Parts: sequence; structure tokens; C-alpha cells
Amino acid sequence: MTTSHYIAGRWVEGQGSDCISVSEPALGLPFAELMAASVAQVDQAVAAARDALPAWKKVSASTRAAFLRGFAEQLGQRREELITLQMRNNGKPRHEAEIDLDDAVATFAYYAELAEQLPSKNRDVPLAAAGFTARTRLEPVGVVGLIVPWNFPLVTSAWKLAPALAAGCTVVLKPSEVTPLIEQTYGQIADALGLPAGVLNIVNGKAETGAALSSHSGLDKLSFTGSNNVGSQVMRSASAQCRPVTLELGGKSAIVVFDDCDPDQAVEWIVAGITWNAGQMCSATSRLLVQDGIADVLLPRLQAALQKLRVGNPLTEEVDMGPLTSQAQWLKVASYFATAREEGLHCLTGGQALDREGWFVSPTLYADVPKDSRLWTEEIFGPVLCARRFATEEQAIAEANDSRFGLVATVCSGDLERAERVADALEVGHVWINSVQAVFVETSWGGTKGSGIGRELGPWGLSAYQSVKHVTRCLG
Ligand code: NAD
Repeated sequence: MTTSHYIAGRWVEGQGSDCISVSEPALGLPFAELMAASVAQVDQAVAAARDALPAWKKVSASTRAAFLRGFAEQLGQRREELITLQMRNNGKPRHEAEIDLDDAVATFAYYAELAEQLPSKNRDVPLAAAGFTARTRLEPVGVVGLIVPWNFPLVTSAWKLAPALAAGCTVVLKPSEVTPLIEQTYGQIADALGLPAGVLNIVNGKAETGAALSSHSGLDKLSFTGSNNVGSQVMRSASAQCRPVTLELGGKSAIVVFDDCDPDQAVEWIVAGITWNAGQMCSATSRLLVQDGIADVLLPRLQAALQKLRVGNPLTEEVDMGPLTSQAQWLKVASYFATAREEGLHCLTGGQALDREGWFVSPTLYADVPKDSRLWTEEIFGPVLCARRFATEEQAIAEANDSRFGLVATVCSGDLERAERVADALEVGHVWINSVQAVFVETSWGGTKGSGIGRELGPWGLSAYQSVKHVTRCLG
């Protein structure tokens, strides 16, 4: 693939020095290659976005909404192709690839509605002081850089693109080098819809391309989703220029199971929370806190449920879990298995790579993991669950909150009053009660503590791309 970058409304060849190899993780084999964008091409993309901004800002809210609806419709029309590409390049089981596609469609449709309502959000502000009037205008932040990871590429990009375009921003998107193909779709749709040139630009590349974008002086804002390590570099670049960032970073989230739960139902939630997307979720509930009264019943059932999962190639088999998406991720997860062996952790199931082609690992459960274990404290990003027992509600809350991350949590309890109380006490951005990983476009997404800065989705996701202007007039 040569023309894989979309700059100023044209598809162009990459002029960088890196060759990006795109793989099929179930086979462990490459199936496409593209040349990365050069730093000069990142400059061109930012310049194109800057040139397009004045006109795009002035486009009526209903026209912007129509473009966003166009994105939703065209994603829907390409459903089968996009589901297959995610199964192939991400290793997602079909039902998960379908959910991702539906999520991206819903996101564009939702922000089309919000774009439509924008004029009504500009309003007069009553003043206590006499002799003045004041009004607000919500204006686009300007030119924004969007950098995304590989685990939910279609979705993460939609969560940024749709509100940014709705707000009237122009954008430069840098997809992950692990999954660069799926986001080409957004450029193709922009082309097909006749989106004005430069409103949406896409540059592909590795760290060098990301760094060229995140440190670019032509941006007004950077929105980043990815690891804490890169997130802090992105924040450093932003701080050098005193400009805003949204950071959606890692997690090490807790699932708290009280002893008044139906154990079979709880097992379903626990398994989904650690094996969807082969555990490669920032929101994976990878720390299981289980109350003493239910632990001896629940843990053997959980062990059996994980052992029953069908792990395989989503393109050729009926599977519950696919491979890890990249060889680097597979090696990383394998290194945690080695650490677990060194630490002498009690492995109830899994703890190893599968003996077959491709980047597969077994769904894994460690019990009674010490609080200072690296497996309890660090984000692994694989289907690796660590369990600890607790006695009281207070102890569960304290242990769940004892993390440098604060993205999400799940609470499982038959006592809804208690579940709500615990939800309020957890230091995270999103809590699920008796459900698992249910994300709705109307609710917010983002974390506290080391899990990031800012919120996506809902009206908060739109505000992230707006700035407030007040106009105050003297009546005298
Ligand atoms: P990553 O940080 O390695 O890469 C993310 C993106 O940053 C990629 O596009 C990459 O090319 C780019 N990049 C790499 N080096 C860069 C640099 N120096 N400057 C600028 N950009 C650079 O993360 P990943 O491995 O792709 O994704 C996994 C991580 O993402 C996990 O930590 C996960 O928790 C996190 N994540 C968070 C959320 C959330 O909503 N909080 C969602 C998905 C993933």
C-alpha cells in the first residue's frame, strides 16, 4: 500500500524512513506494508488543517451534523468489510468486532445530534451588575492532533473525530502503527462525502511520527489515548507550549464481588471483564476482589469457566477469545508469566503462551496474589486475572482504591444500596454495577489519578474540543 496518508484531501505516499508491517496475529504473519509519513508530511497535514479551519468553523451546525451522519451511514454500509478487517488485524472475535462497528456508528450519530444543538448553547448570561449585557459563544478549540492506540482503533478514533468535527475543529489523526488500515476508512469516507480538504488529515507512522505531531507548534490541542509512558511524553510536549491535552491512559481496575451474589452470574461478568479483546482493554477488570463468604465457591467455577473458553483464530473458528494483537504484546504478557513464576504466584489456570502458530496465550487466573506483586499493581494488557480475598466492605474499597490508576471498576452485589455506596466510594471515572464493560455514547469515559486527564463521550467529549468565549457589552 503506497498511498496511505490523507493530507489536504489527497491520498499520498509515505516519505518517511520507517516501513510499517501490518500483521495477522492469529497466524503471526504480515499481510500489508506501508511507508510511514515523514516529519515534513506531518507539517503538511498540520498546515492543511490550519488552512481549513476558518471555513470549517463557519460551516453551519446542520451542515456539520449532515457530514457526521454521513460518516455513520457509510460505516454501516461497509459493515462486513470493516468487521472482517478488525478480526484479521486485531484478532477480535466476530461479535466483538460487530460491537466496535456499532459503537463507532453510534458515536457519529450521537455527535451529529449534538452538533445540531450547538446554536442553542450560545446564550445570554444574566449579570447582577447593571449597565452591561453578556453572552457566551462556544467556539472550536482549533487545530487538534489525535493520537490513538491499537486495541479499539475504529472506536477510539470515532470517540475523538466525531466530537472534534462537531465542535468545528480541524484534525490530524495518527493511528497506531499496529492497526493503521482500519482508520483509512475515515479518510475514504471523508473523500466520498466531499468533506472540505484539510478538515480531516491522517498520517501513519510509529513513535517518530507521533512525536512530530504531538510536539508540533501548529496545534491548538492534543488528544491522546495510549500508554502512561507515551502519555507523559505527550504531556511534556504540550507543557512546553502551554496547550491543553486530553489523556486517556492505562488502568488496573478492580471487580469487587460481594458474597450475596449469584456466583454463576458473577463468573460471567468476571470472565468478560478480563477476556474481551483478549484482555487488551484499558478498562479490563484485572484485579478481582472476592469476599470471603463466596470465594471458595466462586474461584473453582471461575477456573472452570476460563478453561472452557474457546481460544483460536476468529476468521476460521468459532471463538470466545482471539490472539493478542501484536508480537510485542505477546512477549510482554509472556514476561509477566515469567515474573509470576519467579514470584511463586498460585496459578489456578493458564500462565503460558499457547503452543500453536500466532500470538495466543491462555486465559489466566492467579489466586491470593500479594498486594506488592507486580502482577497486582501493573497494567498487563492481556487475559491475566489476579484475585485476592476481602472480609469487609471497607477493606474492599480500600484495596480497590489502592492503585496509581483510576479508570473503571465493577461492583457485583445483590444489595443495591451497598453497591451504590461502594460505587460512590471508588476513585475511578466509571463504575459498573452488576454489569460489565457497558459503554454508552451518552455517558462519559475517562479516568482519575494515573488513568488520565479529561473525559470523552457524552457532552463532556464535545466540551473537550470547545472553548468558551464571553462577549460583554457596556450599555452606557
Ligand atoms: P502507546 O502509548 O505505545 O501508543 C499509542 C499511540 O502513541 C500510537 O499511535 C503510537 O504510535 C504513538 N506514539 C508512540 N510513541 C510516541 C511518542 N513518543 N510521541 C507521540 N506518540 C507516540 O500505546 P499502545 O500500546 O498503542 O496502547 C495500549 C495502551 O493504551 C494501554 O496502556 C491502554 O491502557 C491504553 N488505552 C487507554 C484507553 C483509555 O480510554 N483510557 C483506551 C485504549 C487504550
